[in-house]
Amino acid sequence: MKRKYPELYLWRAMREQRWELTGAAVLGFIASACAVALLGTAGWLIATAAGAPPVLTLTVAAVMVRAFALGRAVFRYLERLAGHDAAFRGLVGLRVAVYEQFERLSPAGISSFGRGDLLTRLVADVDTAVDLPLRLVLPWAQSLLVILGAGVFFWWLLPSLAALFVVLGVIALALIPLVVSLNTSRSETRLAPKRAELASALVVAFSAVADINAYGANEQALSRIYKIDEELTALGRKTAAGLALGGALMTAIQGAAVIGVMWLVVPKITEGVIDPVWIAVAALLPLAIFDVLAPLPNSAAALHRVRASAERIESLTHLPTPVAEPVQPQQISPGFTGLVVRELSSSWPGSTRPALRNVSFTLQAGQHLYIVGPSGSGKSTLANVLMGFTNYSGSVLVNGVELADVDHDEIRHRIGWLAQQAHIFDTTIQENIVLGRAEIMSETVAAALTGAQLDEMLSRLPSGSKSKVGAFGSSVSGGEAQRIALARLTVDPRPLVILDEPLEHLDSETAQAVENVLSQQLSQSALITITHHLLSIPDDSVVLELHDGCVVSTGTCLEIRSKTGWFQEQWQAQFEIGQFARTQTRG
Ligand code: ADP
Repeated sequence: MKRKYPELYLWRAMREQRWELTGAAVLGFIASACAVALLGTAGWLIATAAGAPPVLTLTVAAVMVRAFALGRAVFRYLERLAGHDAAFRGLVGLRVAVYEQFERLSPAGISSFGRGDLLTRLVADVDTAVDLPLRLVLPWAQSLLVILGAGVFFWWLLPSLAALFVVLGVIALALIPLVVSLNTSRSETRLAPKRAELASALVVAFSAVADINAYGANEQALSRIYKIDEELTALGRKTAAGLALGGALMTAIQGAAVIGVMWLVVPKITEGVIDPVWIAVAALLPLAIFDVLAPLPNSAAALHRVRASAERIESLTHLPTPVAEPVQPQQISPGFTGLVVRELSSSWPGSTRPALRNVSFTLQAGQHLYIVGPSGSGKSTLANVLMGFTNYSGSVLVNGVELADVDHDEIRHRIGWLAQQAHIFDTTIQENIVLGRAEIMSETVAAALTGAQLDEMLSRLPSGSKSKVGAFGSSVSGGEAQRIALARLTVDPRPLVILDEPLEHLDSETAQAVENVLSQQLSQSALITITHHLLSIPDDSVVLELHDGCVVSTGTCLEIRSKTGWFQEQWQAQFEIGQFARTQTRG
């Protein structure tokens, strides 16, 4: 649903800064009033001085000129300071609000967004919001106040001048911005989505650079980036043309104001209604007043830019929460006493076919359950349900409490998860394991790294665990990245731990070593392991076999292996491959 004024969402997000912004508007008005008064007083001083009056008559005006000159600079500085401080602090609140929306939607609700699109919403769109106070609210507030002040002064000097200023004021405050707005609305509205498109193309090109190189697709990747860049340049040109037109019209109205004022004032001076010294004041004031109004064309264009970005930010708030938090959350008792899953079904958002259907099983304290099945059979979906990332029907009781009734943060404090492709952050190995949990001691990290069989890798790195691993763990191997994620899990073991393919990318020797250490370090936790390595499952461990979202068999590994079917075939095939490899090694 599109809101008519999405910029109000930004305004509300910055409401804590409203008093500081009001202060900045007042300071800006004083600075602008000083600039106008400076020119007016200077004009009066020059005109009066031409009549060679006693010096004392001029002293006050000379002091005022200095005061206004200083006041203009000081108040403008203070306005910029207060306005920018408020606006940038407002951005912090807004960025946190956007991040909270991502958190609410993730992971199921944000899979339809591109990474570049998400990045643009969080960075560029939020940054654009700064234009709302700085380029829209403050210039308009100051311009309105200055025009009102000038109107009162001209009314005092000559009422017909005030009427002229009302007409010119309406043109400068409304008509010229409207012309600019009409000329820039299309380009400025398309700017934010186009910028997101460019960011997406760049993110794809950078993250897939190896594959793009390998398949010789550089030209296609670059041509897409160039094309979007050209479109952005064309949008920029259109905006610039609109702004140039606005600037020209503003200069024209400034000139028209000077001529109009002269046209009205000169006859009155000739008639003796107005003192001749006011002629310089009347000629110079319009120049100063319309200088204050000069940013308005820019402001009119900024409105569309801010609106487009605000719409992209606000639209996040209308997306339904993939998994709603419970209204009356219940607590899971400490430790783990059992997991009971009954008639569990689950579908991914937007998918008509359930990924899990009527799945039932139990897990006792201290038990290790293995989940197996062909690719796409629903194993990872089951892990997602247990982590509270996906909705379900049926029942999932953890320590007797229905999972849907538990606060999401609480679920993730009770259930640990090693994702199939765990994210490795572009920082040091140590920080990748600690993940900001200050209570985790460096000795614990060192023990976890040893447990994950990473000592040999650390000895090769110049700074050991303080070495950086690059974006997405680009400077470590897939198996090393998986083991860093494993170490992250073991430094703070949860009562129930789900391991999604923990031994993927590992050679059989390292896999065995990791498995031994894992069972030691996670000995206090109940474990659910999703695996394709059927030979790694102990004979007496319970196995749940999924096919097409349904449980097709359950029992100990030995029992399932003795039945004809997928498990037996796969186990046999893996066993024969292992035998062959061993023969080759011996040979
Ligand atoms: P497995 O882990 O056994 O390979 P998954 O649980 O990943 O299988 O997938 C089960 C089904 O759910 C598949 O049909 C898959 O396409 C679908 N699926 C998995 N993840 C998502 C997702 N994030 N969004 C939509 N559908 C998904």
